[in-house]
Amino acid sequence: MLKNKSAVVTGSTSGIGFGIAQALARAGVNVMLNGFGDAAVIEKMRSDLAAETGVQVLHHPSDVSQPAEVAALIGAAADAFGAVDILVNNAGIQHVAPVDEFPEDKWTAIQSIIINSSFHAIKAALPGMKARNWGRIINLVSAHGLVASPFKSAYVTAKHGQIGLTKTVALEVAETGITCNAICPGYVRTPLVEGQIEAQAKAHNLPHDRVIREVILAAQPSKRFVEIDEVAALTIFLCGDAAKSITGTAIPIDGGWTAR
Ligand code: NAD
Repeated sequence: MLKNKSAVVTGSTSGIGFGIAQALARAGVNVMLNGFGDAAVIEKMRSDLAAETGVQVLHHPSDVSQPAEVAALIGAAADAFGAVDILVNNAGIQHVAPVDEFPEDKWTAIQSIIINSSFHAIKAALPGMKARNWGRIINLVSAHGLVASPFKSAYVTAKHGQIGLTKTVALEVAETGITCNAICPGYVRTPLVEGQIEAQAKAHNLPHDRVIREVILAAQPSKRFVEIDEVAALTIFLCGDAAKSITGTAIPIDGGWTAR
């Protein structure tokens, strides 16, 4: 049923976003990639995925911290594909510091990239979804949208905010064919987490395997990373017809973290 639909996935040149883009393309969905990186590497990711799946795969280099660039991203996808049926707000960054030492520019960047970009993208995509009476908005949040950890004030604030936005949008469009949900993964091994493993190994003078078990996965009862494919499969499920009554939810996929 997703064949010939079209999607925008913000922050999809790496990690979870690219995994979701791959799964959508394999389900027959045209995909607009977005995000930073080496131009030749991004072009190879784009062309390989297009060749493998036969759908249109494009890349737009918008910086989603800038409202006008978010609108340009949604507009470019609507122009190229004729519609934006599926919006995955996935772009995100992390910075770890005590709140009284947290750099103002990092605070602002995290709010802009995670929460403000979600608002601007939803605002731009929603009129087209309403006109077609069908849409799927998925905010890639985090277990940190449901519970906090120390030293992640900006990230935890932005992720909790994304869940508030998810619920509000879901209520506003509840009588239409549009749903809006948040996916809340625990730790997934991506470049964003590799950076934290590296920093913690240095800070605690511990080998990587001990940092992973004793520091990174300390709160994750399964003691294993969530896999990108698991997050992508949940996204595909939420896009399907069987999920049409699931809206306004924040679904943990966290190895039991938020069951504590
Ligand atoms: P990642 O670092 O692998 O990928 C982040 C992507 O966002 C990249 O494509 C990057 O280019 C893009 N990006 C960053 N700033 C951008 C900007 N200003 N404009 C456009 N694109 C930008 O990270 P990831 O781990 O795959 O994380 C993806 C999402 O999942 C984030 O929202 C993150 O908070 C969330 N998440 C990650 C984990 C985890 O453990 N990795 C867990 C829960 C939630």
